[in-house]
Amino acid sequence: MTPFSFARATNAGDAIHRAGADARYLGGGTNLVDLMRETVERPSALVDVTGLSHDIEERGGGSLHIGAATRNTAVAEHPAVRARYPVLARAILSGASGQIRNMATVGGNILQRTRCAYFYDHAGSRCNKRNPGEGCDAIEGLNRMHAILGASPSCVATHPSDMCVALAALDATIHLEGSAGQRQIPLTDLHRLPDGRPDIETMLEPGELITAVELPASPWLARSTYRKVRDRASYAFALVSVAAALRIESGRIEDVRIALGGVAHKPWRAVRAEEALRGAAPTAAAFRTAARAEMIDAAPLGHNGFKVDLAERTIAAVLGELAGDLA
Ligand SMILES: Cc1cc2nc3c(=O)[nH]c(=O)nc-3n(C[C@H](O)[C@H](O)[C@H](O)COP(=O)(O)OP(=O)(O)OC[C@H]3O[C@@H](n4cnc5c(N)ncnc54)[C@H](O)[C@@H]3O)c2cc1C
Ligand code: SF4
Repeated sequence: MTPFSFARATNAGDAIHRAGADARYLGGGTNLVDLMRETVERPSALVDVTGLSHDIEERGGGSLHIGAATRNTAVAEHPAVRARYPVLARAILSGASGQIRNMATVGGNILQRTRCAYFYDHAGSRCNKRNPGEGCDAIEGLNRMHAILGASPSCVATHPSDMCVALAALDATIHLEGSAGQRQIPLTDLHRLPDGRPDIETMLEPGELITAVELPASPWLARSTYRKVRDRASYAFALVSVAAALRIESGRIEDVRIALGGVAHKPWRAVRAEEALRGAAPTAAAFRTAARAEMIDAAPLGHNGFKVDLAERTIAAVLGELAGDLA
């Protein structure tokens, strides 16, 4: 491991002030420390931000404000999250293990890095995300876990977070603070597709800190769920996952939210499927047609063609479950 300095921030301003060019913010360390051990990440300084806000509180208009240092377990167990945004509680509980969720923070979960094995294999593999311009060994390699949507000839990695898929479906807002001040950005705009620069993963400015996540006040989001398809029942990343919420009024779909995990470099908002469903009758056929519409541009690799059908079936099944609940 490369030597680094360590400081514990007392508040957001202090954290930003302490974070120099090569520094990294430290949440639970469950991803960053692994990457440092593998020398994929070599920060000269760590700024511990676990002492920042870990409050979950109601804000004006009924939105729910979650401090970025809140541990994943605390979010999943919070009564307001469980009652009003069950998709978020279920997504978090489907990830990692109890011990890791007890350590992992909201900010760190959002910014965790891909689990592409070639990205971690510092000594033996080519990776454009690690070394821009070097090439990507996943494209012709073992790519069963990789992207089918929005990938590029530079990178076919997926974003690993379950929590972010739920946040995308919920239209969550991310609160940021940096040397230029505070701003907010929709979660769906925070992560980037790889294009030609897979090493640039988010729209964050250098040194910008995530301070909170805000969930909108929409009572109908209480009718939401998350389903994760994976190789083992626990402790495995998603092959495909679906976060969805459904609002049906007078026999028609009034509103719908669908986001996918395990299929792209960022949490994938299924805009085409949503458009196909708004105003339609909530039938199994409509759900399947919408799921197919979402997959129309899917570009599977050598080992992950199964994900296209799996994603279609999972979208349709989750929407069917929500519609059944409403019947
Ligand atoms: C064995 C294993 C299995 C796992 N399985 C799953 C799974 O199935 N599903 C899943 O979703 N996840 C899974 N994870 C990943 C886990 O969820 C993440 O490691 C965790 O959420 C990261 O949170 P952290 O607080 O530990 O982040 P850290 O490791 O501390 O930080 C991660 C990144 O976020 C940055 N950061 C942290 N806080 C902030 C902030 N406030 N502002 C700006 N930047 C910040 C850090 O600089 C770093 O770049 C697994 C991890 C392991 C080790
Ligand atoms: S898919 Fe992306 S992260 Fe994986 S080896 Fe290729 S460039 Fe690196």
